[in-house]
Order: sequence, then structure tokens, then C-alpha cells
Amino acid sequence: MLITISRYSLPYEAHIAKSRLDAESIPAFIADEHTINMQWLYSNAMGGVRLQVPESYAEAALQVLNEDREKDLIELVGADVQVCPRCGSEDTQYHQIGRRWAFLMFLGLNFPLFPIRNGIKCNACGKVSKS
Ligand SMILES: [Zn+2]
Repeated sequence: MLITISRYSLPYEAHIAKSRLDAESIPAFIADEHTINMQWLYSNAMGGVRLQVPESYAEAALQVLNEDREKDLIELVGADVQVCPRCGSEDTQYHQIGRRWAFLMFLGLNFPLFPIRNGIKCNACGKVSKS
């Protein structure tokens, strides 16, 4: 049985996490990716891209992601991490302003480059922070 261990607003984030798990020989699967690629602007409304692992691997997978996620994200994409600075939750989403900029980039370039993140909003504690 697969369980969801993490959610990502954008597919590339899920792929980074999956590559980490692959390196540790933890089987991982990305759900909803096709839907997000088609309508990525609405990914938050649909809960984002889900990263899933077999239930027996869940604990090990979460350890891997918590240990290395921030470092790898910075190294691989040069982007900030969507972790709430107040409570540490990764259940965050782009602040509305950031999504608007991303949408403008999408219109101008016809490709969703990394969104300009003016801020993130934490779904766990509600804090909006500058990225
Ligand atoms: Zn928080």
C-alpha cells in the first residue's frame, strides 16, 4: 500500500525528493504529476504533486527527506526551500503575490520557470514569510 509522505506545488520539487529516495534504494512514486503539468497553476487547489512510498518505507523516506532536502534543493535548483521558519512545517504554499509573478512569467515565456517567491504561506501555522 502506498502512502503519501510529502506534497509539492511543482513537479520538479517532487522529482528532487524522489531522486533522494532512489539514492537510498527507497521506492518512491509521484502521483498527479500529469495533471499538474497540464494545469500547474491550480496545483495547490488539488493538493499539489504527491510523493508516495510503500507504507513500510515511510519512516525511512521521511528521514531522508528531512535530512537532506534543504541542502539538495539549494544545490540543484538554487531555490529557497518551502519550509516554514516558524514551525518547520513543509506544508506550505506560495504566497499569492509569488503565484501572480509566476503566472506572468508563464504568460510571457510560455514555460513555468521557477516562480518568483515573494513569500510562502504555512498551512500548518498560518505564517506568511518572505522567502
Ligand atoms: Zn508554520
